[in-house]
Amino acid sequence: MSASSHVLGVYAPPPEQFTHGEGVRLFTEDGRSYLDFIAGIAVNALGYNHPKLVAALKAQADKLWHTSNMFRAPGQAELAKRYCELTFADRVFFTNSGTEAIECALKMARRYHFAQGEPGRIEVLTFQGAFHGRTYGAVNAAANPAYLEGFGPPMAGFKQLPFGDHAALEAAIGPQTAAVLIEPVQGEGGVRALPPQCLRGLRELCDKHGALLIYDEVQCGASRTGKLFAHQWVEGAEPDIMAVAKGVGGGFPMGACLATEKAGAPMVVGTHGTTFGGNPLAMAVGMACIEELADPEFLAHVNHVSNVLTQGLEGLRQRHPDLVVDIRGKGLLRGLKLTQAPKPVQVAARQAGLLVGVAGDNVVRLAPPLVISEADVRECVAILDATLPAARLA
Ligand code: PLP
Repeated sequence: MSASSHVLGVYAPPPEQFTHGEGVRLFTEDGRSYLDFIAGIAVNALGYNHPKLVAALKAQADKLWHTSNMFRAPGQAELAKRYCELTFADRVFFTNSGTEAIECALKMARRYHFAQGEPGRIEVLTFQGAFHGRTYGAVNAAANPAYLEGFGPPMAGFKQLPFGDHAALEAAIGPQTAAVLIEPVQGEGGVRALPPQCLRGLRELCDKHGALLIYDEVQCGASRTGKLFAHQWVEGAEPDIMAVAKGVGGGFPMGACLATEKAGAPMVVGTHGTTFGGNPLAMAVGMACIEELADPEFLAHVNHVSNVLTQGLEGLRQRHPDLVVDIRGKGLLRGLKLTQAPKPVQVAARQAGLLVGVAGDNVVRLAPPLVISEADVRECVAILDATLPAARLA
């Protein structure tokens, strides 16, 4: 039995194994180099071996790794304060992953109505194509049948609506609605950005009905769209609760559930917790990472290369009209919707030295490190130009 056959068979990785990375490139042991346009699925926002992140981790590693939340973790109060300065939030709960941030958000929404004297108000509205993680609450919220099959009866209190259908939302929301949960830019479901008026409309409907608005910015947050968080493009669309993870740790496993004072207040001692979430290593890296991500010059760079990427992708659509039918997403979370399954393009691109992802709805997904240059974008577009025809083999 090979060593890898002892790993639970839930993944299907390709043969390449990476040993190190630098900037936007990953390297195999035998010295092959790959331009990375998926970044650990929107995680390595600052690329590989970023000097500030490495220094922050090493400095904290010499001091203290873990005490649990029985004690105050060094850096936790400071990072929570920084997140609140940079967003709508007043309170922060730190997690190790995105799905845990979603669990916290779901519990918080129900607990809010419980504290308001409405314990039966538990329904959370979600949208087709959503992905919120793999824990029970998260898979039930997203309601993708492929991720629910074989895991027992569906959990009560979730209702799924068509994506971008305001009338359906208006008909579904009511006094039983605890919260609306949505990704401002859907990742997994096909890289679909919600139009700005939809976010504003959601906020208004939630206010009208007393429901909480939860954003899942696990994938689209952390400056990926050119603002620190994607919803910040839209005025008057702030949430009550927001789940973040992936890019906020720059590759160190961490996430957070951010909340207003109103939404977070009922989460008192004993209602929630975690052993590892908010540990000193995560807090040190998280602080170094958010300072880079929130830097206006850094955001200007993200917006600039995003525009260059948009032009490149539009060129691909024009040159391959039979294969590329739509360019989707926002900033550096982009999708090329193909007429065919995208997997053969992913494989051909990798063989040509470019790493890309796929998403639902026949989409090639791009989520590069945000530190990419114009030259990196041109290289990516050139490789896709040469490898897109592989889609015809599907
Ligand atoms: N929410 C969104 C939008 C995601 O894209 C993901 C992961 O891909 C998650 C939640 C779950 O995050 P994690 O895999 O860190 O649990």
